[in-house]
Amino acid sequence: MNDKIIQKLRKIRTPYIWANPQNCIACWKCIKACSANVIAKKVFLWHKHIYIKNASRCIGCKKCIKVCPESVFSENIPDLLKSLLLKKGVDISRINADIGAMS
Ligand code: SF4
Ligand code: SF4
Repeated sequence: MNDKIIQKLRKIRTPYIWANPQNCIACWKCIKACSANVIAKKVFLWHKHIYIKNASRCIGCKKCIKVCPESVFSENIPDLLKSLLLKKGVDISRINADIGAMS
């Protein structure tokens, strides 16, 4: 997997959950719910959304999945992302290993 893809995946993946920030409405409920300080805010002038800041701290409690009103988080890779990565020739089964144990 190339470095650009690895850098992008580190912002949307922990060992336990995936995030699809495109659907985020910036209510910040997940940030309050995540006691491990895994999720952070990305604030632009024209848009706000979450990203994964500390993937390796995720404990897999899944509170983010429960509180998010827009289903941003999931246990499995989102279908659209999966098909994009497959088109780029990424071996989905090796993602965690390729991105360095989510460091
Ligand atoms: S709870 Fe969902 S919609 Fe709200 S900030 Fe977190 S990811 Fe975005
Ligand atoms: S699974 Fe738990 S620890 Fe991991 S990002 Fe979600 S709320 Fe935080």
